[in-house]
Amino acid sequence: MTDSEFNAAVQEGAGYKRLEANHHFNAMAIEHLADRQLIELIEMGQRELDTRHGMNRRDLTCPNCGRGDYFRLRVSTPTTLLSGSRPYLEDDDQDNFAWGADRSCTCVHCDHEGPVLDFLPTVQKQ
Ligand SMILES: [Zn+2]
Repeated sequence: MTDSEFNAAVQEGAGYKRLEANHHFNAMAIEHLADRQLIELIEMGQRELDTRHGMNRRDLTCPNCGRGDYFRLRVSTPTTLLSGSRPYLEDDDQDNFAWGADRSCTCVHCDHEGPVLDFLPTVQKQ
């Protein structure tokens, strides 16, 4: 969206918040950011998502089949890495699994896959 298209849409007043958000998103030139700035951008987005939707939500429901009892999730957890070995989890790290709305989720019943966000009951579907 060009600036003139954005201004015209704003003057029309329709969907202003969404247009404004899209305008700011499209204006980002992430290819010009330094690596540390990219990390900061990712962390800022992660914090915002976690604030909006919480962490480690267990009230998931498959948007395809409606089941809510069996999912496969990609999680984050601390690991130990020794030179020349595979990363491994220590026994007491089992409580450190974490997931947020951005993590990949698959319904084991119907193989529907998407971000956890799509499986949250409180999120308005767009
Ligand atoms: Zn399903």
